[in-house]
Amino acid sequence: MKQLPAIWLVLHVVCTMCKAQAARFEFTPPGLHPLAFSTWPPSLLGLYARQRDPARWWLIAEGDIHANGHGENIAPQDVHRYREAFGFPRTFTRVRSADITGDAGFCPQCDVPYCATHWHATASGRRRCPRGHDA
Ligand SMILES: [Zn+2]
Ligand SMILES: [Zn+2]
Repeated sequence: MKQLPAIWLVLHVVCTMCKAQAARFEFTPPGLHPLAFSTWPPSLLGLYARQRDPARWWLIAEGDIHANGHGENIAPQDVHRYREAFGFPRTFTRVRSADITGDAGFCPQCDVPYCATHWHATASGRRRCPRGHDA
């Protein structure tokens, strides 16, 4: 496995229809703090200080279906897994390999991502993409 550089890695997934954010993943290397760290309130900083393992990576996941709040410790192989999954060309099959709840907004049949506005909830509690596919 290739050594990852010690800089932030941010993966953006935007809706194919409107370019709104479908998902965002921010990876903070060991020894660094998340990008929004300086804007966090004291209560959150305290929580983060107790939870953060400074020897590990930190992931903040934002999405309609999957989010992890202020973040969590993750292993280098997780960073690698996401990086591979969200490489280009970005396809549903590739993204699926990251094993994220909601697949970062990707429709399996369209092979593109949609935001929460463009995924419609159906009466049966499923989600339907703008082209009528159920996920
Ligand atoms: Zn679709
Ligand atoms: Zn949209």
